[in-house]
Amino acid sequence: MAKDKNKEVLIEVKNLKKYFQVGPKATLKAVDDVSFNIYKGETLGLVGESGCGKTTCGRTVMGLYDATGGEILFQGEDISKYSKKQKRAFSRKAQIILQDPYASLNPRMTVGDIVAEGIDIHGTLKGDARQEKIYELLNLVGLNKEHASRFPHEFSGGQRQRIGIARALAIDPEFIVCDEPISALDVSIQAQVVNLLIKLQNELGLTYLFIAHDLSMVKHISDRVGVMYLGTMVELASSEELYAKPLHPYTQALLSAIPIPDPDATGRGERIQLEGEVPSPINPKPGCRFATRCRYAKDVCKTETPVLKEVEPNHFVACHIV
Ligand code: SF4
Repeated sequence: MAKDKNKEVLIEVKNLKKYFQVGPKATLKAVDDVSFNIYKGETLGLVGESGCGKTTCGRTVMGLYDATGGEILFQGEDISKYSKKQKRAFSRKAQIILQDPYASLNPRMTVGDIVAEGIDIHGTLKGDARQEKIYELLNLVGLNKEHASRFPHEFSGGQRQRIGIARALAIDPEFIVCDEPISALDVSIQAQVVNLLIKLQNELGLTYLFIAHDLSMVKHISDRVGVMYLGTMVELASSEELYAKPLHPYTQALLSAIPIPDPDATGRGERIQLEGEVPSPINPKPGCRFATRCRYAKDVCKTETPVLKEVEPNHFVACHIV
């Protein structure tokens, strides 16, 4: 994938594949030949319907799954070739914030011990220094030192996600995969958590891969957005460009489904209803995976897989008609 020469690349994903064998002759191609860069200090949003492979992609990029094929370069080094010592160092630099703050916090641990999990695993701080760090982290995410001795069930959903964020920050990571961190929260709380993530990024110089299916929130936090469909990347552009001028028929359909606050607003156009069968990601056929639902599909779409191409500066699309 072409790089923006004005920015420093932190992570380079090249032709990434993650397949799962689900039967003797059945392969689930969760991520299939996906390439993108993540620049230092930016937020790359990754969106698409449930099952499109965005979470698998995020987890493979941070080394939680071994890739089936392709390369993931972190600061120019292939993470699959890391030694044990390098893997441990990488696990400090890359952290994850999970979707469900209820399920991801151990109910029998105090908040202080949860936040300090990374510190204890890596043995970075002990005694008073550990305790001070816990207070500092709680303060950073809008909680306070009194919260350290309490248990997760005493907190609201938004507060629990703040605890999850403090835990991810405990060992000073550079890169965080935010795996649908707001999907389980009330709409009123979602904006607070997104604003907190933006504030922390500005203060700490963090780089995010922000995974979501809520396109409106993704726009608010992301510098660039990648759209995935059934294991493939179909469009990648800056947030403004993607929302103002979506080029892939699937992106156009997703954006047309976002409610417009002003009922008299006409700029977005009609809502595009997606019809047709969603093909299975198990043993997918050649051709465009969106062809069964695309109103512009031609014969070539059923036989040739479209490649992600730069159609305008830093705007990439995989579609035969764009
Ligand atoms: Fe539609 Fe063909 Fe483009 Fe796929 S390649 S999105 S089927 S027009």
